[in-house]
Amino acid sequence: MSQSSERAQRYIDRVFETVEQRNPNEKEFHQAVKEIFHSLIPIFEKYPIYMEQNILERIVEPERMISFRIPWVDDEENIRVNRGFRVQFNSAIGPYKGGTRFHSTVNASIIKFLGFEQIFKNALTGQPIGGGKGGSDFDPKEKSNGEIMRFCQSFMNELAKHIGPNTDVPAGDIGVGAREIGYLFGQYKRLKGSYEAGVITGKGIHYGGSLVRKEATGYGLIYFVQEMLKDQGESLDGKTVVVSGSGNVSTYAMEKAIQLGAHVVGCSDSSGYIYDKNGIQLDTVKRIKEVERKRIKEYVKEHTNATYTPGFEGIWNIPCDIALPCSTQNELDEKSAKTLIHNGVQLIGEGANMPSTLRAITTFVENNILFAPAKAANAGGVAVSSLEMAQNSSKISWEFDKVEAQLQSIMQGIYQDCIEASEEYGKRGNLIIGANIAGFLKVADAMISQGVI
Ligand code: NDP
Repeated sequence: MSQSSERAQRYIDRVFETVEQRNPNEKEFHQAVKEIFHSLIPIFEKYPIYMEQNILERIVEPERMISFRIPWVDDEENIRVNRGFRVQFNSAIGPYKGGTRFHSTVNASIIKFLGFEQIFKNALTGQPIGGGKGGSDFDPKEKSNGEIMRFCQSFMNELAKHIGPNTDVPAGDIGVGAREIGYLFGQYKRLKGSYEAGVITGKGIHYGGSLVRKEATGYGLIYFVQEMLKDQGESLDGKTVVVSGSGNVSTYAMEKAIQLGAHVVGCSDSSGYIYDKNGIQLDTVKRIKEVERKRIKEYVKEHTNATYTPGFEGIWNIPCDIALPCSTQNELDEKSAKTLIHNGVQLIGEGANMPSTLRAITTFVENNILFAPAKAANAGGVAVSSLEMAQNSSKISWEFDKVEAQLQSIMQGIYQDCIEASEEYGKRGNLIIGANIAGFLKVADAMISQGVI
């Protein structure tokens, strides 16, 4: 090891220790920080200014972390209390921007890992947006419409004090779709007494939303995968694809993959997975999940050739060319990675945030499996959110084809940036290193320009 790389390693180790001490028991946050730090040694070797400016210690500390009480009344008139969060992580390149997650597992660690990832993802899109994230440990499953609405209103009663079209712009994530965004926006508007459409993205088309926002993360993931395959002289046509989850990201990843000729044979929800060797019928999945809000196992009642297996992890046993984890963090571990490789997988595309464990990632890299990291591959959602903000501020709506073409071009740009960064730092084709370095440099340079603030 050269002297400069030893110095860089010592710096990284020291800051990582600080992260562990300052954020005890936040294992998801530690994991996200570690994943980025691993990639940065070559930058610090080449440009010591980032160490001299102590960028790492500054970047891992959120500018602001808000935690608040959310009291609400259920249908039986019981008073319930949940906890809400918003992390405003980094505003070096624009207003904080990032989704809102409602899930029973949400805590400070989950919100901080998501917010931290969001900083670099947003930078990669080339749009002027900083990094943020929020949510609550509220579980929307089995709740009535009225309960969801009252919860969203109470959540917004506090959140409204901290957000705004030029300050912090939330969107959806797990458990927060079109219905929840509508209730959140409605309450914000009522509290402010003015129509600030750009305060939240993922809105309905009839009140300021953008066409293609609903499809953007899933479609963007497939455009990114398409670029990777093109570089191998291949395409999606005829590839067998497995997609975990059956929510927003999964559904539209399946849709675009099918449009491009892929054969999608499996998807899941948190209870189990379905396998349909004839190809998943997406209309059925959409009706079950988006309209009826039922479990994915209902699918096999209508498609009797398909099978349902309880336990969502088993989905990675289905042989495929392309695996797209699109549910949640750490859903794909080392054992599943080995099974996928054994069954001949060619490419992994992360639609969810941090879906692969660090050991799973190492296994894929060591076995030369093409790997699209979440930060780059799922950036299409926030990219179109930024286009929604642009439409809101100019009070116009763009047509579907225009937004989709911009999405595709942004995903191609992100792929090129990642490839170039991976080449410059001696790891051609390693998109993990490429994404981390390209994202980091954009934010770090903006931070340095703005002084110690
Ligand atoms: P949805 O709530 O629409 O769908 C989530 C899907 O994952 C559902 O099928 C759900 O099953 C399943 N799931 C959720 N939690 C778990 C869990 N703990 N274990 C197993 N399965 C689970 O969310 P999205 O599609 O919006 O988000 C999916 C992932 O993509 C998340 O990691 C999110 O952060 C990321 N992402 C989302 C973006 C967006 O634009 N929506 C943008 C970028 C990233 P069930 O229905 O049973 O709960």
